[in-house]
Amino acid sequence: MWEDSEGFTKLRIAVVGAGFSGLVFAYKLASKGYDVDVYEEHKRVGFPPHCTGLVSMDTVELIGGPAKENILGTYNGVVLDVEGTRCTIDTVNRVVKLNREGLEEALLEEAEANGASIHLGVRVSRIDSQGLVEAGNDRGIYDLVILAEGIHGNLRGQIGLDHRLTTTYGLNAEISGQDQSLLGDYILIGFERTLEGFSWRFGFLDRILVGALSKRAREVKEKVASMVNGGRPRRLYGGIVIHGPPLRRLRLGKVVLVGDAAGLNKPLTGGGLYPNAWLSVKLSEIDLAAGDFYEVDRVAGMLVGKLLRQYRIARAYYGDTASGVVLLRSAVEAGLCDVLSGRIDYDGHERMISLVLSSPARGLRILFSTLSHSRREFYKFVLDFIGIKRGG
Ligand SMILES: Cc1cc2nc3c(=O)[nH]c(=O)nc-3n(C[C@H](O)[C@H](O)[C@H](O)COP(=O)(O)OP(=O)(O)OC[C@H]3O[C@@H](n4cnc5c(N)ncnc54)[C@H](O)[C@@H]3O)c2cc1C
Repeated sequence: MWEDSEGFTKLRIAVVGAGFSGLVFAYKLASKGYDVDVYEEHKRVGFPPHCTGLVSMDTVELIGGPAKENILGTYNGVVLDVEGTRCTIDTVNRVVKLNREGLEEALLEEAEANGASIHLGVRVSRIDSQGLVEAGNDRGIYDLVILAEGIHGNLRGQIGLDHRLTTTYGLNAEISGQDQSLLGDYILIGFERTLEGFSWRFGFLDRILVGALSKRAREVKEKVASMVNGGRPRRLYGGIVIHGPPLRRLRLGKVVLVGDAAGLNKPLTGGGLYPNAWLSVKLSEIDLAAGDFYEVDRVAGMLVGKLLRQYRIARAYYGDTASGVVLLRSAVEAGLCDVLSGRIDYDGHERMISLVLSSPARGLRILFSTLSHSRREFYKFVLDFIGIKRGG
């Protein structure tokens, strides 16, 4: 901490890693007047591209101006296609396709405009829980370190915050042209027993974006190639998608681990923008200068608790997608989309799960419908969900 010319005590915050998570924290904290230093090993932000950039309008509001300036398309909701059985879910807030690289550049510019010092092309080599940050010959001691190093970073291991994450591979391909088979302003999400994940397809500007994720990288490539259907993608990008679980305790001493590195992702889809935008807003509302780390732990704990509940469902689905697809198809046939339509947000998986599980009558309808499709796969999914390991 130091005193500025007017005698105000200023908290020194280091943000390590300038991907989406680091940048959204830097932007929010700098706008509150904290003295923020951002370290990023690459010479520019938004690089390499990997993310589809789909979020709810609610998340756009949470992020603020930089997200609003980078909207490429908006949609009424999603169409689920479960092996040819389709249903439409209108979401309470519109779904938004963001320009991800543009968003990161705008967050960086805004953070800098609010007084943050940006160190691009600087790799942090060491941190400790007392606020030490070492980059080459430079070392600084900070009051708070936001560690947002992504899945590939290795600093969290140095201080014992590493933990095992569940991952899949994701790939996006942008192709030219309009697609008449797209159902108006919706994101088409496809589930099939042979893909250990799911696929997506939607239009924006003058192009169509297709993509898929799965536990098997080869399966993703084959699925995307089949969706591109012999065309030549204008852009191809992807990477590792995190499905949690979140680290149970995000803070150790003066270091708070966030982003993909902490498993702060929606476990069903791997989306990381909403949880980190939410936490950055909550953190920026705390009086950090008062050293109130109890409040930091409290808001982090709220997010972690929510994500852990969703993780159990996701684990059952990815543990056995074939059974998950049977169950999902039954749920769609039993009126799942009528229940959810107009009541859920694209990023609000907690509410979606509680709506599905809240009615015993609906549960029974799904149960009977599933049993008529496949008794065996249904039992497998339920055992996975309640955490009983199957033999063989
Ligand atoms: C195919 C795909 C599609 C996705 N689609 C969506 C989507 O539609 N919606 C959504 O919400 N999420 C989506 N996600 C997830 C989302 O992209 C991630 O959750 C998010 O980008 C993670 O950001 P991050 O800042 O935590 O990590 P990263 O983006 O990996 O950033 C970490 C940064 O830290 C830097 N760094 C690491 N170590 C150091 C060091 N020692 N010193 C200095 N710098 C360092 C790295 O260079 C990097 O820039 C998708 C992900 C993938 C792969």
